[in-house]
Amino acid sequence: MSEGLAILGATGSVGRSTLDVLARQPSAMPLHALTAHSNAAALADLCLAHRPRFAVIADPAGEPALRDALSGAGIAVRSGAAALVEVAAEAESVLSAIVGAAGLLPTLAAVQAGRRVIVANKEPLVMAGELFLAEAQASGAELIPVDSEHNAIFQCLPAGYRCGQRPDGVKKLILTASGGPFREWDLSAMRDATPAQAVAHPNWDMGAKISVDSATMMNKGLEVIEAHWLFAMPHEAIEVVVHPQSTVHSLVVYRDGSLLAQMGAPDMRIPLAHALGLPERIASGADSLDLIGADLRFEAVDMTRFPCLRLAREAIATGLTAPAILNAANEVAVEAFLGGRLAFGQIAEVIAAVLETAAGRALPAATELQAVLAMDDWARQQATTTMKGLVQA
Ligand code: NAD
Ligand code: MG
Repeated sequence: MSEGLAILGATGSVGRSTLDVLARQPSAMPLHALTAHSNAAALADLCLAHRPRFAVIADPAGEPALRDALSGAGIAVRSGAAALVEVAAEAESVLSAIVGAAGLLPTLAAVQAGRRVIVANKEPLVMAGELFLAEAQASGAELIPVDSEHNAIFQCLPAGYRCGQRPDGVKKLILTASGGPFREWDLSAMRDATPAQAVAHPNWDMGAKISVDSATMMNKGLEVIEAHWLFAMPHEAIEVVVHPQSTVHSLVVYRDGSLLAQMGAPDMRIPLAHALGLPERIASGADSLDLIGADLRFEAVDMTRFPCLRLAREAIATGLTAPAILNAANEVAVEAFLGGRLAFGQIAEVIAAVLETAAGRALPAATELQAVLAMDDWARQQATTTMKGLVQA
């Protein structure tokens, strides 16, 4: 094991917020590695500023430019998907902040190596949560959630709580949702919403994929599944409420009627500082919330305008590899929407069609990596075929 933290997805929104928190600390936390997909210039800039031992670029085509930019800096360069897995398994702790299924193998490698794994990248947990928690149990890996809702719940559970155990005395979990940019739009306007409108989140500044997921509310569906695995709670005991101000980040409802909430500004540096500092409290750079005049409202989700949340609930109720299929179809549909090849309203239609086709098959369990990867692949092909049909219609 090598000392320090590996940040997977360092050039992204969560990765940069993590580096911002680290740079505020009086003593530097050693960095094992910073990784990125293909932007060698952005990765090199971060490496020169934060001095990790390794710079890893997933796309091998970016390696020459990265080597060039880092020559003489004393930072070793690696490339390719296997290098991501290697640095994840070597580091003492790992911040998992790649977007989508691409984070599955490196995050799983860190878990199998028994590391402390700080999890932002929710899609691998959606795809293979049961496998992740079983591997963590076997290796002694510690999972620390930083998705703001899951970090809020984690903070409201008793000190010493470890993910994967059903928490004592807890009746249910309440995930709050901002409702995204289309909370008050009517269904017909939402159908043709543009990518620019969908990524303009009212409260959070995030990567494009999760911003679209917030606009469809698939993000909350993925988070119900994420919470189901992290906190070993039945999905029926995980409620979603719309809270447009995004200041109550989620709640734990105890058996005695107590509701414990974590509050704060909508700034990812708060959950990140909590996870990075554990068990100490460290500075995050975020403003503290001003309660005077603060407006706290809670509303039910409109399931007619946000069918993706229903689809996610159906997938976790089906279990097996249905959540992996849901996730893959969503990734393909969101990418097509961002690329201008699919209408906003068609995202849910594509996912529903793929899940319907899957319902006619005997699905494998999600406890074997190969089965998860095979169903991920199958669902991506199904989604692509479905989209061709929609565009021609
Ligand atoms: P982003 O798009 O801003 O950044 C993604 C990062 O992953 C980049 O560093 C990119 O280079 C890397 N990456 C992308 N594809 C890759 C590939 N194929 N191989 C290797 N690396 C790849 O995304 P983000 O908004 O920072 O979100 C990251 C993850 O955290 C997502 O799973 C998201 O759901 C979750 N999350 C994000 C936020 C947020 O505020 N942004 C909040 C909660 C959870
Ligand atoms: Mg969240």
